[in-house]
Amino acid sequence: MNPFVLNSVILKVAAPCNLNCTYCYEYNRGDSTWKSKPKHISSNIVARVGDRISEYCRTHSRDSFQVNLHGGEPTLLGAAGLESVITILKETTQGLRLRLGMQTNGTLITKAIVDVLARHSVRVGVSLDGDMRANRLRVDHSGGSSWQRTVNGLQMLLAAQLVSGIQAVIDLDSDPETVLDTLGAFSPPLIELSQPFGNHDNPPTSTAHRYSLGSWLSQAFDHWERTPSLSKIRVGILSDALYGIMTERPTSEWFPSVPPGFIIVATDGSYEGLDSLKIVGAEGRVLDSNVGNDSIDDALRHRFIQARADGATLCDECRDCGIVKWCAGGYFPTRYGLGHGFHNPSVYCAELKELFGHLGGWLARQPGVEEQVATRIHARLQQLTVQRSEPRC
Ligand code: SF4
Repeated sequence: MNPFVLNSVILKVAAPCNLNCTYCYEYNRGDSTWKSKPKHISSNIVARVGDRISEYCRTHSRDSFQVNLHGGEPTLLGAAGLESVITILKETTQGLRLRLGMQTNGTLITKAIVDVLARHSVRVGVSLDGDMRANRLRVDHSGGSSWQRTVNGLQMLLAAQLVSGIQAVIDLDSDPETVLDTLGAFSPPLIELSQPFGNHDNPPTSTAHRYSLGSWLSQAFDHWERTPSLSKIRVGILSDALYGIMTERPTSEWFPSVPPGFIIVATDGSYEGLDSLKIVGAEGRVLDSNVGNDSIDDALRHRFIQARADGATLCDECRDCGIVKWCAGGYFPTRYGLGHGFHNPSVYCAELKELFGHLGGWLARQPGVEEQVATRIHARLQQLTVQRSEPRC
């Protein structure tokens, strides 16, 4: 029995990107397979993707599905290219409620593109790391800042009410309050804070930075929690951590106790695993299957996808951890290395313990939290304190 309930495909409609962010997992972290892919997806591949989605939904009695247009940079297709992709997807998935999203760096947004996205109700996520300083690693191929161009595009998308959220990779030298205030001023429904990419073989250089990840996120949380203008904005990773503490069944990519609900299709039609597994090289992501030959269910049977199912790769240290029901071992790519594959705690384990300790303590003090829940949280925090004081061999 396949454990996955898939609800979306991330469709790479353009392989290259007009930016060259220095931390980019797509282009600057060990996997260069994108170079051999078609620059733009073809109409035939888009049609096959639509067919595969229809087939999957028939098999699993689903009446709706989501497709997120991604890249590289999807707006490199231009307005006409995006219109064509969306039209083909709609034609080949007739009878389904097709929800559409797009992730963009925002720098190439034009009025014509906004018109296409608005006509098809495409919800758009924009990548922006915060204020201009925090965004300094998001540069173009000449090393120039992308900040103002992204803000211009973001404002056009906001004016058309198309923005679903802003995605920000955390810069550990940035000021968490300034980042949240800058992004919050755009009033997006969501600010998704992403961990800087790293694993045990390519560890993040946290000692070289102003903040550790745990202290950055804890300070961001304190600011979010006490700032009225941010109160209507969901802050991803922090909201996800709170949800994990409350429910003990976290469902996000950051704290993955349930299988992911998406699969990726590249411009040549090949299925791929989690995109950010590029930081472990091509072998962490390539599934050797294609929409031409294989159904979505076939691709989901691949061992890399299965390995992400329900804690299957949790190492002994995570299984014994007092907060494993909150953290779930951390973000899958950050577990890789040391010759153990993904069988490690997250490289951010200490940071996650700091964050969960901070959030758990706050949550247990809130007057609306049931006594039973507060008691459970305190018990786990106690275990965490013991764990953190024990020497690691
Ligand atoms: S805090 Fe560390 S040991 Fe505990 S579940 Fe998370 S990654 Fe594993």
